[in-house]
Amino acid sequence: MSLHHPGTAPERSRLTVLSGPSGVGKSTVVARLRATHPEIWQSVSVTTRRPRPGEVAGLHYLFCDEEEFDEAIRSGDLLEWAEFAGHRYGTPRAPVLERLRHGDPVLLEIELEGARQVRKAMPEALLVFLAPPSWEVLAKRLTGRGTEDEVVIARRLARAKVELAAASEFDVTLENRDVHDVCERLVALMESDEDSAPPPSDL
Ligand code: ADP
Ligand code: 5GP
Repeated sequence: MSLHHPGTAPERSRLTVLSGPSGVGKSTVVARLRATHPEIWQSVSVTTRRPRPGEVAGLHYLFCDEEEFDEAIRSGDLLEWAEFAGHRYGTPRAPVLERLRHGDPVLLEIELEGARQVRKAMPEALLVFLAPPSWEVLAKRLTGRGTEDEVVIARRLARAKVELAAASEFDVTLENRDVHDVCERLVALMESDEDSAPPPSDL
């Protein structure tokens, strides 16, 4: 299934934001999309968080220190940024705008504050909220991932309550029961979006 319709004006492609509480399965969905839909361009965020085992610099994140992040903010290099559970995360602006100009479908996987900033800056973006089947399942997934200690898990679960309460701010909510199913629905949304979207506004 292609997301880029030859013959249509490339600038009609839209930006999609995928958000949702930590542990809901965003990275899993994004990794599957990367494998099955390479035509979707996924932004690589910059973060002050240390890499988890298996995370590849430049692929999963651009890892940086606090000074480098400060400099990125000062220079206006970030489309949006937020602090999350003790670390900062941001979307480099230039590559996103360049891809949108080329007409590529663009996906950002970011948390709530960042999604709100994108909504303001680019109201034409499609905001998708990934929800867990239940609170218990979310807690189990976050714990089961085994990448964070108890303190960090507690911090992320506290933040998850705030994120879940904001689901209604999003255009669409997808429940992550089955990763394959979520990916298909997300791709379908991005495709249906492509033909009706106005050109991206210049930032
Ligand atoms: P996030 O990026 O939203 O923090 P992850 O993608 O790291 O979440 O997923 C958290 C955990 O939940 C991982 O161990 C992942 O394998 C698991 N997971 C993700 N989606 C599903 C699903 N649909 N069913 C069962 N487990 C899932
Ligand atoms: P993690 O540390 O689990 O990789 O990510 C923590 C949270 O930061 C997740 O909710 C993820 O979506 C979010 N995040 C990742 N990159 C960005 C970004 O560039 N901007 C914002 N605002 N959030 C991000």
